[in-house]
Order: sequence, then structure tokens, then C-alpha cells
Amino acid sequence: MTERMFDRELHEECGVFGVFNIHDAAELTYYGLHALQHRGQEGAGIVVSDETRLLGVKNEGNVRFVFPENVLKKLTGQHAIGHVRYSTTGGGGLLNVQPFLFRHGSGDFALCHNGNIVNSKQLKNRLERNGSIFQSSSDSEILAHLIQRETRKDRLDAIKEALIYLEGAFAFLLLTKDKLYAMRDKHGLRPLSIGKFNGGYVIASETCALDAVGATFIKDVQPGEIVIIDKHGITYDSYTPDTEEKICAMEYIYFSRPDSDLLGLNVHRSRKACGRILAKEAPVEADIVIGVPDSSLSAASGYAEASGIPYEMGLIKNKYSGRTFIEPSQALREKGVKMKLAPVRSVIAGQRVILIDDSIVRGTTSMKIVSMLKDMGAKEVHMRIASPPIIAPCFYGVDTSTIEELISATNSIEALRQLIGADSLAFLSMDGLSEALGHRSFCHACFTKEYPTHLYDDIKEANKDGKF
Ligand code: AMP
Ligand code: SF4
Repeated sequence: MTERMFDRELHEECGVFGVFNIHDAAELTYYGLHALQHRGQEGAGIVVSDETRLLGVKNEGNVRFVFPENVLKKLTGQHAIGHVRYSTTGGGGLLNVQPFLFRHGSGDFALCHNGNIVNSKQLKNRLERNGSIFQSSSDSEILAHLIQRETRKDRLDAIKEALIYLEGAFAFLLLTKDKLYAMRDKHGLRPLSIGKFNGGYVIASETCALDAVGATFIKDVQPGEIVIIDKHGITYDSYTPDTEEKICAMEYIYFSRPDSDLLGLNVHRSRKACGRILAKEAPVEADIVIGVPDSSLSAASGYAEASGIPYEMGLIKNKYSGRTFIEPSQALREKGVKMKLAPVRSVIAGQRVILIDDSIVRGTTSMKIVSMLKDMGAKEVHMRIASPPIIAPCFYGVDTSTIEELISATNSIEALRQLIGADSLAFLSMDGLSEALGHRSFCHACFTKEYPTHLYDDIKEANKDGKF
């Protein structure tokens, strides 16, 4: 097991959670963020309002670490926003942990964000030339500066005007002393859902967080929509008529929790459908079907169901591996110290195994698992991937890496099979993925290079020669 494999688990995106008009808003936000912890463990923060002031706490680490009871108790108020973070554009460090709290004569506000702005460099340069001073390297601060340029306007008009400048993926929450705003980019690349709870409102990156706090789902925030919640209730507005639904396919394939519903489609069901369709597209004779825990188990069960080959628990995940653990030295690694995944010998030995994973990024995971299964005595290992080959990087906040690290970008399927050491290898087709996602319109740029937004020259440059 390599460091990369150990590392990858932690590399996810961000999650946002907001509360309006609910007693102990910070406590509810804590539970909401806890349900979104899979979206980022590098940092967490909450800003709360009691209608007279905004007060925030944030730090590096996971939600439980950042918010022990004594810290949470100090955050009194009935409105709140919170964030869990995995760094995308900004890099690590406390300065980049959100929400950001801005003090200003025109009224304080706090802001947090999930996604990635693709024209951030251009906007930042322009704002700096006009006198803005940035505290962090995060994209989210750009929106605050754009809003503040418009101080003469009504706050909602200022937000609308600012959003028009942003290109890319975003789900933003903005909290003032007495209002909560939620907005989604015009392609709706990142998910954001609204719920109702005890006379108040809850907004979350995924519906699993609404369920976790007992809120009732109302609706998904629409692409290009701004939701405004205040003492009069909830109203909906939009900042552009130029919208097109393009939710990120990887949210279904890998990121989101299986119990979340994205645009009305349950994540577990979509993964199971990917597995079922894959079984039809790429059948193979074998004795058992196993999945790589946790994100591939739904697809594995779908493959098993459709193929009639028994589903088995062939790999066990150690729930307690994480960054705080000491990694085995190279010598121990070579001896086979498996910190995170362990094959079940009595299930695997002597069997022809179909191994399902949800995706291949750099290929490290597949190589290691195939060799572990063979070491345990698997007779054959047939690798089946429940998504198409990832051939292009993501610029919208998902860590799918640069093009030269993407193993499917530089290898044919047969070359990849040999590298991985599997007896056969097949991927889900694009048509199969589309069928599994109910033929909705979604972003599939990392499989097809068809990016839904304009890409800026500095991004292409950073990704080596603009080869993608
Ligand atoms: P790799 O070893 O680089 O090929 O990574 C593939 C594994 O990482 C698969 O088991 C996926 O479940 C998981 N994965 C896919 N996309 C990501 C991502 N963006 N961040 C972290 N892990 C991922
Ligand atoms: Fe999601 Fe891939 Fe589109 Fe990025 S490029 S938003 S990972 S589908």
C-alpha cells in the first residue's frame, strides 16, 4: 500500500452548511458539518449570528477536533454558516480555512464556498490593481471583494452583480447579521439543497446533512439561483438567465455520500445502476464480485445482481486509519503492513474474482489491490471500473490531478491492464454512465474533455502546455 493510496482518501472537496432562525444554530451546524466530513477534513469553521453581531471559530483539523463542547457553547445565536475544507485552489493553512468573516462599515458578513473559480487569477489581479488587499489565497475571498466594490447598492444587487463576474463552480453561503444567502453557479456544478426545520431553514451541500439534523428537504438550489432567507421567510431570485444544469458526475460516482439525493437521484442507486450496466457491457465468467470499500460497494452490488455472480466481502477497510497514524516505513510496507485495506483470505483464495472500483485516477490503488488479491491466492482478478476512463483534469474543485498523472490519459486500456496486473479490465461507457444518471445533463469533462465553462490560459499553462 503506497503513501498515495493512503493519501487519496483525504483528498476531497469542501462542504457547506447553513442555518437560519433555529435555536442553537452552531450546534446544528456542528452536526451538519459532521455529516459532510467526507467532503474535507483539513479544516472546519462556523460563524454564528445573534442578530447583533457575527462571531466565528475556525481551525485546521476535522469538525470534532475544531469544535470541542466548550468552544461550541460560546457560539451563541440563531443563524450560522459552516464549512469543512479540503484545499483546492488556495492550498493549506489556517488563513484559508472558511468561513471568512468580513468587517465593514456597510455591514459585516461571513462567506463560505465549495467549488473552484476558473477565472480567479484574472479577477484577483484586477481587484488588486484597484486597491483590494487579500488575506488568503482562497477563491472565496474574491467574491467578498467584488461585493464590496458595490457598496452603494442594495446588498442583494451587489451580490448579483458580483456573481456575474465569476466563472467556474461554486456553491456559496453568505451570512449577514439578519440574512442568509445561498447561491449556486450557473451550471450547478456543485450540489446545494434546502431544508426546513422547526420553523427555520437549513442549507447543505448534500441531503445527508439535512437528514442528519432531522430537516425536511424543500428543494435543490437551481443553477444561477440566489436564495434569500430572512425574518419574512424564504425568497428565490437569480443572477443570470443564462443557465444550464451540469452537475458534476463525480459527485455521483465518488464524492457524495450514498444516502444523499442529488437532484432527486439517490447516490447509492446511481452507483448501483452503474454496476448493473457495467455487468451488461463487460461480462466475464467468475466466482465472486467484490468492491473496494466504501465508495465502490454500491456499484459492486449492482454488478453482482445483474450478473448473478455472488457478491462477497473480499476487502475490509480499517476505519481507524487516518492522517494521525504513523505510516509504516518502507521496510514494513514491503513486508505487507496493510493499514487501510485488507483482503479476506478465505473469501479470495482459489477464486476467480471480479474487482469493482468506482474510478481509476493515477492507478496506484488498482495496482496495489490486484497484487494484494493475487498474493492472497486469487486465481484470476478481473477489474471492472464503474465509470469511464478519466482522461482530463478537473478545474472545478475536484482533485483529479494533472493530465500527466492521469493514467488513463496516457495509456490504452490494454496497456493499463498490464500495468495493473489484472487478467482483464473494462470501464463503464459514457452512454452507460448517462443511462445510470437518468440521462440528465451533467458535467463529464474529466471523461470527455468537454468542459462546460471557458478555461483560462493560466489554467492550461499550469496543466502543462495546454495538452488536454
Ligand atoms: P488512484 O489510486 O489514484 O487511481 O485513485 C483511485 C481511487 O481513489 C479509487 O478507489 C476512488 O475511489 C478514489 N478516488 C477517485 N477520485 C478521487 C479523488 N478525486 N480524490 C480522492 N480519491 C479519489
Ligand atoms: Fe466533476 Fe469531472 Fe466535471 Fe470536475 S470535470 S466537475 S470531476 S465531472
